[in-house]
Amino acid sequence: MFTSVLIANRGEIACRIIRTARRLGMRTIAVFSEADRQALHVKMADEAHCIGPSPAALSYLRGDVILDVARACGAQCIHPGYGFLSENAGFAEACAAAGVVFVGPPPSAIRAMGLKDGAKALMRKAGVPVVPGYDGERQEAGFLQEQAARVGYPVLIKAVAGGGGKGMRKVERAEDFAAALASAQREAQASFGNAGMLIEKYVSAPRHIEIQVFTDNHGKAVHLFERDCTLQRRHQKVIEEAPAPGMTNAVRKIMGEAAVAAARAVNYSGAGTVEFIVDGSRPLAADTFWFMEMNTRLQVEHPVTEAITGLDLVEMQFRVAAGEPLQVSRGEVACNGHAIEARLYAEDPETGFLPSTGVIHVLKLPSGEGIRVDAGVDQGGAVTPFYDPMIAKIIAHGATRKEAIARLAEALGKVVVAGPRSNAGFLKALVLQPAFAQGRFDTGFIERHVTELGAVRQPVDDKAVAFGAAAVFSKAQASRASQRDDPWSVADAFQLGAARRMAERILVDGAPLSVDVAWSAAGPAVTFGAQDVIAANTADPELVIVPAGDDVFVLHHGRQTQVSLFDPLEHAGEDAAEGGGTVRSPMHGKLIDVFVAIGDLVQKGSRLAVVEAMKMEHLLVAPVAGRVASISAQAGQQVAQNAPLIGIEILGGEG
Ligand code: ADP
Ligand code: ADP
Ligand code: MG
Repeated sequence: MFTSVLIANRGEIACRIIRTARRLGMRTIAVFSEADRQALHVKMADEAHCIGPSPAALSYLRGDVILDVARACGAQCIHPGYGFLSENAGFAEACAAAGVVFVGPPPSAIRAMGLKDGAKALMRKAGVPVVPGYDGERQEAGFLQEQAARVGYPVLIKAVAGGGGKGMRKVERAEDFAAALASAQREAQASFGNAGMLIEKYVSAPRHIEIQVFTDNHGKAVHLFERDCTLQRRHQKVIEEAPAPGMTNAVRKIMGEAAVAAARAVNYSGAGTVEFIVDGSRPLAADTFWFMEMNTRLQVEHPVTEAITGLDLVEMQFRVAAGEPLQVSRGEVACNGHAIEARLYAEDPETGFLPSTGVIHVLKLPSGEGIRVDAGVDQGGAVTPFYDPMIAKIIAHGATRKEAIARLAEALGKVVVAGPRSNAGFLKALVLQPAFAQGRFDTGFIERHVTELGAVRQPVDDKAVAFGAAAVFSKAQASRASQRDDPWSVADAFQLGAARRMAERILVDGAPLSVDVAWSAAGPAVTFGAQDVIAANTADPELVIVPAGDDVFVLHHGRQTQVSLFDPLEHAGEDAAEGGGTVRSPMHGKLIDVFVAIGDLVQKGSRLAVVEAMKMEHLLVAPVAGRVASISAQAGQQVAQNAPLIGIEILGGEG
């Protein structure tokens, strides 16, 4: 076994790999970008080395720099985790050339499965069922459209180099094909530098079921059951479980054998996952599943397999990479109970799941019987705009699916994230959906239930605002009272005992709002909506109130409301726009295009600008009709979340 490992990754997966490596007695070597200087994986490792600036392309994707570090520290092997360099055959080759073991499959297997078209052709040859469609070389739009017609709508256009659900478009009707193709090609070119597309039949009521395979270098190959990853948003997994609801031993055997055949066809070694798309409109059967792709690495959702098998897949990866034979045999591994994983993200379900960055002032993650938490951030740490904003994975294991769901829901209810917004409340609502409990769902489930899941703009939470405002004002009053010459000091206004009632402005999630405050020596009493709150007793079992600097974060039923004092100076410009609109950047990102100039007249809904983050584009539109009065950033510039970008002035009446 190795005695040292360099982990070429960050976040929860780097932390998770460090835990196993340490247990196996290895010296753990972390690498980090400038943004990650204080990150959890850096603190956990025995040693850590900076590999460059924050953007992944300049750090975590710099295979050459990472290999230099590995050589300099004498690392025997490199574990790439998932994402980043994990499926980069060139990097795996460079490791071999440098005499460092790449903990993963041979470069030839990565290459064979790297592009979806080539992989499908290979699988057809190996006798594995693949989704009907076109995956040949011709790429002319007209020809691809003919193929779509032959396959029959609805079809899925897929980037051959795709991953993470990018470069994929479902097309329902022939007349939408051309536009969808062009947009998928643009996205794929930007994300993968490869605009190649294939066409697939869109499987009805689709379910995603994948098989974990493991292969050693001595001819042994096993599968470790399936995972159901059907609950997705924009083709990205949200909840994963094992085993799959409705799976039978007979179908598992056929699917498992197909997956093992796929691995054998590319002389696989180590951990891999063969993903199948399943027709969920029929019961699971031998003819209702088709190969989609093989991921030649550890999968994000591997912990559910670990929970039901009792195995440590990362340990097995190390052992196979070190040349040891697999210790498990087909039929030997038991499938024990049921496990479900939820991906906890710093994102805002109410704004289309935009990533939400910033310092995590308070982070409480659950623990308890059957609960495992793989975290990538700690309290006081930050979610930066540079990487995937995952906070943690929460995995619940139970004797039955019902018990696993109940444990997961309870665990999600205990999560506290203050600072960035999180999807904790959304996840809890999701696992508590009755149809989910009954195992009736397909990949469209989340989309169809967004409203019930609270993933739409919600009205301001009166109770959270009142409590938050009371906390903010009481802090302000206390600090003013400590400044002797302050006109609001105790000696001046409040000695008479009569409360002064005033309308005070505050900021709620960055937007100005007025609350009614009765100021007295006993502390401010805030009235907002139906809520009356006296600051002196701002405690309520339903609420978690987290003061942080000048802000107060109030968590109520898993939803965060941020309350801050209103600083008239900071908002002077907006007041001048008088009832107009300030368009702010919805997230930390890059302003890639501005469509208007100062003085332009715009209609409500007019296109103003595009901000790009996480390789996805977000269109900003005018909230009101008026004239563009200010433009505060230029195309090409990085913009912070909430930064004012464009000011719109409402034009006066005819007079
Ligand atoms: P999984 O099935 O394990 O979720 P994905 O392919 O969706 O696998 O992604 C695994 C991880 O790699 C995720 O964290 C995802 O954000 C990241 N990832 C996948 N593809 C890309 C890509 N092209 N660029 C950057 N990150 C990616
Ligand atoms: P990626 O590399 O982005 O993970 P996949 O080919 O694995 O791409 O597909 C991602 C997701 O898209 C799947 O999990 C599934 O939800 C959906 N999908 C893929 N192919 C089909 C299909 N033929 N019919 C219906 N849904 C599909
Ligand atoms: Mg996939």
